[in-house]
Amino acid sequence: MTIARIALPVPLDKLFDYRIGDTQPKVGARVKVPFGPRQLIGMVVALPQHSDYPIEKLKAISQVLDAEPLWQPPLYQTLQWLSHYYQYPLGDTLNLLMPAALRQGKPASMQALKMWRITDQGRNEQHTLAKNAHQQARLLAALTNQAQSHSDLQQAEFSAATINSLAKKGWIESFFEAQKNTSLWPKQAPLKQAPLQLNDEQALAVATIQSQHEFACLLLEGITGSGKTEVYLQAIAPVLEQGKQVLVLVPEIGLTPQTIARFTERFDVPVAVVHSNLNDTERLKAWLNARDNHCAIVIGTRSALFTPFHDLGLIVVDEEHDASYKQQDTIRYHARDAAIMRANKEQIPIVLGSATPSLETLYNAQTGKYHHLTLKRRAGNASLTKNRLLDIKGMHCEAGLSAPLMAQMRQHLQAGNQVMLFLNRRGFAPALICHECGWLAQCPRCERYYTVHQQSQQLCCHHCATQRPLPHQCHQCGSTQLAGVGVGTEQLEQTLQHLFPDFSAIRIDRDSTRRKGSLDQALTAIAQNQHQILIGTQMLAKGHHFPNVTLVGLIDVDSALFCNDFRAPERLAQLFVQVAGRAGRASKPGEVVLQTHHPEHPLLLSLLRSGYGPFAQEALNERRIAELPPYSHLCLFRAEDHQGSQAELFLSQVKQTLEAHPEFKAHDHFIMGPMPAPMAKRAGRYRWQLILQSNQRSLRNKLISQSKTAINILPLSNKVRWSMDVDPQDMS
Ligand code: ADP
Ligand code: ZN
Ligand code: ZN
Repeated sequence: MTIARIALPVPLDKLFDYRIGDTQPKVGARVKVPFGPRQLIGMVVALPQHSDYPIEKLKAISQVLDAEPLWQPPLYQTLQWLSHYYQYPLGDTLNLLMPAALRQGKPASMQALKMWRITDQGRNEQHTLAKNAHQQARLLAALTNQAQSHSDLQQAEFSAATINSLAKKGWIESFFEAQKNTSLWPKQAPLKQAPLQLNDEQALAVATIQSQHEFACLLLEGITGSGKTEVYLQAIAPVLEQGKQVLVLVPEIGLTPQTIARFTERFDVPVAVVHSNLNDTERLKAWLNARDNHCAIVIGTRSALFTPFHDLGLIVVDEEHDASYKQQDTIRYHARDAAIMRANKEQIPIVLGSATPSLETLYNAQTGKYHHLTLKRRAGNASLTKNRLLDIKGMHCEAGLSAPLMAQMRQHLQAGNQVMLFLNRRGFAPALICHECGWLAQCPRCERYYTVHQQSQQLCCHHCATQRPLPHQCHQCGSTQLAGVGVGTEQLEQTLQHLFPDFSAIRIDRDSTRRKGSLDQALTAIAQNQHQILIGTQMLAKGHHFPNVTLVGLIDVDSALFCNDFRAPERLAQLFVQVAGRAGRASKPGEVVLQTHHPEHPLLLSLLRSGYGPFAQEALNERRIAELPPYSHLCLFRAEDHQGSQAELFLSQVKQTLEAHPEFKAHDHFIMGPMPAPMAKRAGRYRWQLILQSNQRSLRNKLISQSKTAINILPLSNKVRWSMDVDPQDMS
């Protein structure tokens, strides 16, 4: 064979033919090729007999980087499916979804590690080290008993300067060590902790999962504390016993040490953890370990889905409804949906777990596409919370807190319990107003109000991240009477310290947990009861269990209720169930209070009176009447530019292109727009959108994939910034 067809990471939705040199590459191998003045790394996707170009015109491959395909067929097919379904060029897709180290051309195998050790000279002379050379002393101490890898030293925040200065003195030296894999896997008895005695519902769920031997999608719907994790663990055990591997996906915020511990405490097998904070080396290592069968379980966030395995036996997607599974830029895939596709290609079962399944998933379960397993009883020693709506119409509120809620807080705090308050708005106040003339401080790039951050004395735009010093004078009238409008978590924290001086309040939001490790620290302090009042955004609601919290207050339910995003009620319900499910235990039953001006709202009533199931049924009904997903299938076209006119014009041309396609007239497709996005300006760009709504998924896919070439060659397509979002989640 003489020609290789190659997918390259360039923003052109096509493949490129190259001439094969001395080394014959396999399909699925990475190659280095000349592209214009540059050398790019691409992937061989086919070895065709013919090219549209004469062979002598083709450039030659510079280097074949892999002797074997990078991915096994099921994973490779999943990636191809992703590229096709999410309308993202294949070259970019493959490039983005491989570890960065491989993208840069590093070998797809364990490399020798650069190590550092202390020398005899170093041992003998280290007492002469200057007293103030703290870092060098720390480094010598770290190497005293054992050699360490260069990357581990970097991780431990030793600077290159520190390492070099000791190396120059001859006190430490480097050497290379081949990486060994000592992990004993597969093994005979992977279990190291006895499984719990399952209740009937759990036993049925485990048996159903275990009886699947090829592709099947199972929804495990279980209220919080019903023992879903125990079901995962017991479903996983026989898979490991067969020597097969398991992939567990968790939401971003759910990947806590506690989650990982539940797997490592139960199974005596190597576990790899994959998350966004890994450095390139660690990520590649996890990838290789899974591929080469040096680990049995991979637990990770969204991108862990693209880990290759030696022999994958089961996929679990925990909290399948979580919004963090959808990637919001580049290739806008949904990791849950892609995981189902991967399970399909691998011919293995997949379990989707949630206390509050997404409406899409519930619909698929109800129409028989998925098995529906339910856990209705609490397994552990937790009890159901008492929930109530608190009508705050006409009430005086302090930092958003009504008097009855404060009184209730006092009771719970004085009884020695913890109270959690939930407010989905970080910062001190969502706007800054001039008391004299009404001027509001606004981000000129987004035309939205700045949030006041008092601690850092700044105005921040939460849409474009612009920051500027807090002004002391009105920009319009010069008055110094400036005040915050509304309440954010920072203000709530401050007010609570005044209202409850005998108790300690802690705030958990993106601002307070920016520092690495600070969230874990805060959670530990809460567990040790160092704080009695916990204030947070939705970050606090997810994945953490707070047995001493007996009162939860949702301060501002109305802002979620009256929001133009059709998914907002679903999200509010999921949040409520999550918050309610994390509070209290049998000996200390919890209460949840929802402050609202609309206690008669049917959604709130059904949620509180009957729970998530009936709520979801009602919400599905509303979606059906409005022909919204899952009863229709959307594709959102976004475009933005600095003037707004070109973005709008481009989208109207997209609309014409779609409407001109024969498929458009043949079946039910509707187009809404072009219209300004709900967030009409961001970071100086005017944002427009166009929504395609189709009754059948396959027909929508056909329409967009066949129109795409025509859209790509519209003259405006490279003048505006635009994207296609298939099955969009965030419509802002
Ligand atoms: P979920 O994941 O559904 O929220 P977990 O799996 O975390 O629930 O279980 C909640 C608590 O119940 C945990 O402390 C767990 O150890 C306990 N638990 C789960 N299943 C059982 C069981 N069959 N018997 C006793 N305790 C159980
Ligand atoms: Zn003013
Ligand atoms: Zn802004």
